[in-house]
Amino acid sequence: MIRLETDYLVIGAGASGMAFTDALVASCDAEVLLADRRHRPGGHWNDAYPFVRLHVPSACYGVNSTPLGTDRIDRDGPNAGWYELAGAAEICDYFVRVLDDVLLPTGQVRFLGMHDHVPGSGGGHRLVSRLTGRAVEVTVRRKVVDASYLEAQVPATHVPSFSVSPEVRFVAVNELVDLREPASRYVVLGAGKTSIDACLWLLAQGVAPQRLRWVRPRDMWLLDRAGWQPLEQVVSLMEGLSLELEALAGARSVEDLFRRLEAGGRLLRIDPSVAPTMFRCATVSSTELGQLRQVSDVVRLGRVLRIDRERLVLEGGSVPTDADAVHVDCTAAGLRSAPARPIFDGDRITLQQVRSCSPTFNAALIGYLEATRPGDEDAKNLLCPPNPLPDAAEDWLPTFATSMAAARAWTAEPDLSEWIEASRLNIFRGVLHHAAEPRMMQALERFGLHVKAGMTRLAELSGQAVPTRPGT
Ligand SMILES: Cc1cc2nc3c(=O)[nH]c(=O)nc-3n(C[C@H](O)[C@H](O)[C@H](O)COP(=O)(O)OP(=O)(O)OC[C@H]3O[C@@H](n4cnc5c(N)ncnc54)[C@H](O)[C@@H]3O)c2cc1C
Repeated sequence: MIRLETDYLVIGAGASGMAFTDALVASCDAEVLLADRRHRPGGHWNDAYPFVRLHVPSACYGVNSTPLGTDRIDRDGPNAGWYELAGAAEICDYFVRVLDDVLLPTGQVRFLGMHDHVPGSGGGHRLVSRLTGRAVEVTVRRKVVDASYLEAQVPATHVPSFSVSPEVRFVAVNELVDLREPASRYVVLGAGKTSIDACLWLLAQGVAPQRLRWVRPRDMWLLDRAGWQPLEQVVSLMEGLSLELEALAGARSVEDLFRRLEAGGRLLRIDPSVAPTMFRCATVSSTELGQLRQVSDVVRLGRVLRIDRERLVLEGGSVPTDADAVHVDCTAAGLRSAPARPIFDGDRITLQQVRSCSPTFNAALIGYLEATRPGDEDAKNLLCPPNPLPDAAEDWLPTFATSMAAARAWTAEPDLSEWIEASRLNIFRGVLHHAAEPRMMQALERFGLHVKAGMTRLAELSGQAVPTRPGT
């Protein structure tokens, strides 16, 4: 038995564990043991399908200390006009570089890959090697950081919830690139971002839209990537936020709110005749949306129950299929929509969302607060209300409310405001530098005009009080 001591044991070296550790050691001299069952950092990106890309810009993804990419604006392709989006290989290389060149050289961080964390005896912690079975008993002087609470479920590592007859051509989305024989048609199974990527990739490879069938149990509200741009295009965010508040202020009902958000370009849907019931922060460009709309063979009969040689059986009925069709599994859940827990809770920190759709910003924020406010648990929790990942369409409301409440609380803390403004992970950074520009002036004016009424209406529509900082 090997024994190790550390100030912080971080379980999970995915993007969240890395962003937390990076921000923590940048602001204090604590020691961190970063452990993961995978062989290297980067979490689920190590198992991602080959054509995946970020759907928000690289410019605000990763860890705080180290840029990802070059802040280039794409000139061609479906993301033309917007900031670059890293692919999985680039993201994995990036996290290895961050570990080797930034974290390990501080002398504060150790990394233990290929180790499973298992609770040890008497509240202790044990890391067990996947290769040798050797156990490492860890004494934690300060806190355990659970960076696996929202662990992503990805196609390569998940087991489908339905059965598939052996004669059926069935591949995980990762295996699409390995196909050798053409298919009579491609049947894309799943309603989320992965299924969108699969359809876009197949279309980009020259598969005719008529040869695509999309089995979509739910339709999804999407975010227009044009409205989620940082740096020199940060005005897009303030315009978006002010439009959202204006929509809220005037909304007569939740349904009317979604109508207004769509009319203002804040939410998009693939099929204008179908009311989406899902919202998971996925973004698309208008070019991508146009391509997705070419797929007209959409099966809306609920989830897949089984795939037989000649029939696809779903909750609400069945449709024919055939032995030459390739069925593409895109049904993995992605990040877990786990119930909210206090982020700072005694000797445990559970990394979760605070500002919506910004996982690495949130993890770094939590790391910074832990480094700079060692004992002040209540204050830290006020600054970090957990914000469960949205799933249903109406989750847009509490997700927005909690993000706004947190942002408001941050403004009362000068050091934190300074850290946030300087953080490369903060997609809103630089708003005030552009304050004199006409578009930004207009957006700030609209924001000021609608923020109060919008937040009041949001509370009414949510049927619950919108969380606010005491005294605000
Ligand atoms: C296809 C896809 C595209 C995405 N695109 C974006 C995007 O554009 N922008 C964005 O902000 N977010 C995006 N996301 C969200 C993305 O999941 C997060 O950005 C981030 O990568 C999540 O990292 P994580 O560390 O929380 O989780 P994970 O990557 O799942 O990492 C958790 C780690 O914990 C380890 N672990 C778990 N349990 C244990 C244990 N008991 N012992 C040891 N190790 C353990 C796992 O091995 C894993 O490495 C995307 C997600 C998916 C699936």
